[in-house]
Amino acid sequence: MRIVVLTGGIGGARFLLGVRAFAQQVGAEVTAVVNVGDDLLLHGLKVCPDLDSVMYTLGGGADPERGWGRADETWTVKAELAAYGAEPTWFGLGDKDVATHLVRTTMLHAGYPLSQVTEALAARWQPGVRLLPATDDRLETHVVVDLDGGQRAIHFQEWWIRHRADIPTHRFVFVGAENAKPAPGVREAVAGADVVLVAPSNPVVSVAPVLAVPGLREAVVDGPAPVVGVSPIIGGAPVRGMADRCLSVLGVECSAAGVGRMYGARRDGGLLDGWLVAPEDEGTQVPGVTVRSAPLRMTDEAATADMVRAALELR
Ligand code: GDP
Ligand code: CA
Repeated sequence: MRIVVLTGGIGGARFLLGVRAFAQQVGAEVTAVVNVGDDLLLHGLKVCPDLDSVMYTLGGGADPERGWGRADETWTVKAELAAYGAEPTWFGLGDKDVATHLVRTTMLHAGYPLSQVTEALAARWQPGVRLLPATDDRLETHVVVDLDGGQRAIHFQEWWIRHRADIPTHRFVFVGAENAKPAPGVREAVAGADVVLVAPSNPVVSVAPVLAVPGLREAVVDGPAPVVGVSPIIGGAPVRGMADRCLSVLGVECSAAGVGRMYGARRDGGLLDGWLVAPEDEGTQVPGVTVRSAPLRMTDEAATADMVRAALELR
């Protein structure tokens, strides 16, 4: 069996632990198509937060409490940068993490596309899953907000981390999306998949930018594989993080039904054939989509693998 997962960072990474565990049991192959909308340049370094969260988590190198960055991290570089007054100071760049960004930036400057750089970095981490950026092209999520007496667009990371998503917000813009192409291998993986899973990632700023790459959404929606999503919202609240703030910007109710309906039924031009919700949300209806419930808290790998099994039963 071949499984493709559309995913963001932390939530997606934990889901992928379960997908990998399941795949090992049944001998399946897994490809993760990862959001790059969060990517940014910091102090001249290219940082890919979602790719790194997935790579570190699957490679056993992630900090389990923070959920992002490296385990046993130190912060000397960050303190030295702050001593220079070097902006931005709101993004946590750990010392070990910096090495990843140095290798990535050097390879990008040498002309390698992000997909090849990701493969090179993954050679160290052996994630057990093929990691593909959604695109090799520049695609950045920006957020249009009221700030300093006017409307401006700031990078998603600045909105999320510096402002905690807590300023008047108008909309999200996926800068560069219209000229982006799916990274090499993405279309082929989707076309050859037996199922496409939409991870319980943030639907607005993790999954939407993946689908904003022209041709990628079409490959999924017009492809042969059934598409099954897993709800990141349980009982009307995100399990972790601020997805509620993102959904409210779009005027979408923060519920399993709200997100399921926003994705929509594939047969009506939307995304989903199946939608897996938590037992708390039993009875959720999404027109045109088969909805089932199963425990959706990713407490450990075994529980998450059970979740994946339930999602695959929705095919
Ligand atoms: P990010 O890119 O690091 O923000 O991570 P993702 O977008 O991949 O995942 C964030 C989402 O994961 C949040 O909206 C959470 O609600 C969701 N999430 C986190 N833990 C769990 C869990 O145990 N179960 C479910 N169903 N969703 C979760
Ligand atoms: Ca992210």
